[in-house]
Amino acid sequence: TITNADPIEDHQICVCVRKRPLNKKEMAKKEVDVITTPDKHNTVVHECKLKVDLTKYLENHTFRFDYSFDDSASNETVYRYTAKPLVETIFERGMATCFAYGQTGSGKTHTMGGDFKGKDQDTSKGIYALAARDVFKLLNSAAYKNQDLIVGCSFFEIYGGKVFDLQNKKHKLRVLEDGKQQVQVVGLTEKHVTTVDDVLKLITEGNRTRTSGQTSANQHSSRSHAVFQIILRKRATRKLFGKFSLIDLAGNERGADTISSDRQTRMEGAEINKSLLALKECIRALGRPNSVHTPFRASKLTQVLRDSFIGERSKTCMIAMISPGSASCEHTLNTLRYADRVK
Ligand code: ADP
Ligand code: MG
Repeated sequence: TITNADPIEDHQICVCVRKRPLNKKEMAKKEVDVITTPDKHNTVVHECKLKVDLTKYLENHTFRFDYSFDDSASNETVYRYTAKPLVETIFERGMATCFAYGQTGSGKTHTMGGDFKGKDQDTSKGIYALAARDVFKLLNSAAYKNQDLIVGCSFFEIYGGKVFDLQNKKHKLRVLEDGKQQVQVVGLTEKHVTTVDDVLKLITEGNRTRTSGQTSANQHSSRSHAVFQIILRKRATRKLFGKFSLIDLAGNERGADTISSDRQTRMEGAEINKSLLALKECIRALGRPNSVHTPFRASKLTQVLRDSFIGERSKTCMIAMISPGSASCEHTLNTLRYADRVK
C-alpha cells in the first residue's frame, strides 16, 4: 500500500482504486476479504466463488492502476495522491474533475463527503473538505495572493437525466449549449465562500436538501450523481479562472437495473448506464486530444462537465471504490474493469 512517504506523481488522468474494510455485517455472514494490494499499483481479486483457502486457487485477476489503496489508507492519504494535485491545477487556470466510482456501499460518500451517519454528519474529513482547506491555503499563499481571486461553490445533483440545484431547494435547472458549444446550467446557485467553515456548512445543507423528502437517503443517492464544484474567479471581473468538480457518482450496479419490472427503475438504470459509459469515453478523450468523436452530449453528466474535459490544462482523477467481501466480487470485477478502461 501507499504511505505518505511515497512521491506524488503528475498525471493528466489519474486512475486509482480504494478498498474499504470488511464491515460487521459482512463478517457476520462469514464473508472473506478477497482483495489484496501487493504493492502500491496492483489490486488483486482472488478467486471468490470458493470461500475456502484463498491461497489454493490460482485464477486471480490482477489490475494495475496509478495507485491502489488498501483498507488502512485514510481519507487524508487518498486525498494526497488524488485530489490534492488537482487543487494546484485550478490555481494554474486549469479545470479539474475528481470522480468517486463504484457500487453502492463501497465507500464513495465516505471518501468524498465525509461520513454520514443519521444526523451526525462529519463533513470535515472527506475530500470535499480537504480540497476546500487547501484552496484557502493556496489562495492566501505568497504565490497566488496577487492574482486577487475569489472562491464560489455550486452543488447540484443529476437524477434521471435532470439537473437539480442543491443550494436552492432542489430547483430543476435547464442546461443550455450555445453555438460555440459552451454549456451553461441556467440559474445554478454559486455561493461566495471565504472560509473552510463556510464550505462545510454549505455541504451539510446541500446534503440535507439532497435527502429531504426521500424515504431512504441511500436509495436515492445510489441513483443520482452529486456534483460539488469549487470555482475560482478574478475578483475584479468575476471572470472564470479555474474550476474543480468533485463528483459522487450513482452506484454503478444501478446501471444494470434495465430489466427491472418497474418502468421508473428501468428508465433510471438506463440513464445511469448511459452516463457512466459516456463518462469513460470523455475521460479517455482527455488523454487523446485528437479523438474524433467524444460523446459529451450522450448524457447530462458529461454535457455539464464538458468544459472540464477539453483543453490542455484539464486534469481528472477517478477513484474506483471496491468492497472487499466475497459476495461483492462480481461488482468489484465490473468496477475494476471499468476503471482499467478509463486510461
Ligand atoms: P457509497 O457512498 O459508495 O454507497 P458509503 O460511503 O456510504 O458508500 O459507505 C458505506 C459504509 O461503509 C458507510 O457506513 C461508511 O462509513 C463505511 N465505509 C466506507 N468506506 C470506508 C473506509 N475506507 N473505512 C471505514 N469505513 C468505510
Ligand atoms: Mg453514497
